[in-house]
Amino acid sequence: LNKIINLGCKVNQYEGYCLLKKFKDEKNVVIVNTCCVTHEAELKSLKKYRAAMRRYPNSRIIVTGCTCTLFPSKFKDADTIIDLETRNAFIQGVYPESGRSRYFLKIQDGCTSSCTYCIVAKVRNRIESKAVSDILEEINQAVKNGFHEVVLVGANIGLYGAERGERLIDLLHTLARVSNLPRIRLSSIEPQFVTDELLHGMNDIPICRHFHIPIQSADDSVLKAMGRAYSQQYLYDMVDRIRSTFDSVMLGADVIVGFPNEGEQEFLHTYQLIDALEFAHVHVFPYSPRPLTSAFSYGDRVSADIKRARRNRLVQCVTEHNLEFRKQMIGRMFDVIIEKEGRRSTGLTDNYVRVSVDKKCALHSLVRVVIADADTEQTIGHLSVDA
Ligand code: SF4
Repeated sequence: LNKIINLGCKVNQYEGYCLLKKFKDEKNVVIVNTCCVTHEAELKSLKKYRAAMRRYPNSRIIVTGCTCTLFPSKFKDADTIIDLETRNAFIQGVYPESGRSRYFLKIQDGCTSSCTYCIVAKVRNRIESKAVSDILEEINQAVKNGFHEVVLVGANIGLYGAERGERLIDLLHTLARVSNLPRIRLSSIEPQFVTDELLHGMNDIPICRHFHIPIQSADDSVLKAMGRAYSQQYLYDMVDRIRSTFDSVMLGADVIVGFPNEGEQEFLHTYQLIDALEFAHVHVFPYSPRPLTSAFSYGDRVSADIKRARRNRLVQCVTEHNLEFRKQMIGRMFDVIIEKEGRRSTGLTDNYVRVSVDKKCALHSLVRVVIADADTEQTIGHLSVDA
């Protein structure tokens, strides 16, 4: 049976699943889909590759993804190396099959920003956006295959269409004219693209009330050193605008802790913003200097212990806000897409809360629930009689 070992972001995984499909007529193929975003991700990619080489001696080992594109010599014993450019050409027109309940649709690739810590933009540096007609066709196929949610993913989806003078908002306007559109989620959007125009455009489609925003820091001097084009004040205003457009909106963030010029005071600016704006979900990345980036020369000045402690403080803060957020949902009705069957089924609401439903529900189905309780462990929902 063919197999894929996926690492990294949703774009990498989308491309990996497309590649797996391309090899469906071959037997004993093992794909290791690598990621290079942090030093840790790179080490993990190498570990998975070595484990696959040992564990599947009679299989064809294909290594692909970001790390092997930048550093192919690290994978020289693999049977085949497929870099990103070759992969993208090879999977044109292929739709992924991932077995997930939500359909992840890659709408663009590439980023032309020059954030000083980012290695991703070195390896995905050409903007290529899918044609609107291809996106509509892919959504159509996803609906035919029973998906109730499509997640739009990309290396930097705010840059959708930039290479041909189009914008993400134009895509949303087109989607607004499609009947039977499933619910749409933006995977992650850079702060500077969260404009009033985009927020209003999102309101015209069945959009998930969930923003995952890579703020990275909320300290102006750290943001400047990172090469990020916004300020702390912008982030406060941005969240105000989001909250005045959407009710019950889940806010998530990516944060880097331990950037070389981040002292306690700078970290506190980030912590205070996350706390004050009640972010309820966070991915914290302890900073690691990446080769080929301009921040590499700044060194790694914050100790691993301090990075870990800052990470834990943020996670603790967000965990409390998350519980508060879920408690506020009690007594209200939400649509849930079932991701796990069982005596109790579990699935996700549009505002990114995992709900445990008190009845057995069919996998991938969309059910309406009333939230009955929320504690540190789980959020409980009862099937609605209106369902
Ligand atoms: S916006 Fe910055 S962090 Fe994000 S992919 Fe582009 S260069 Fe990297």
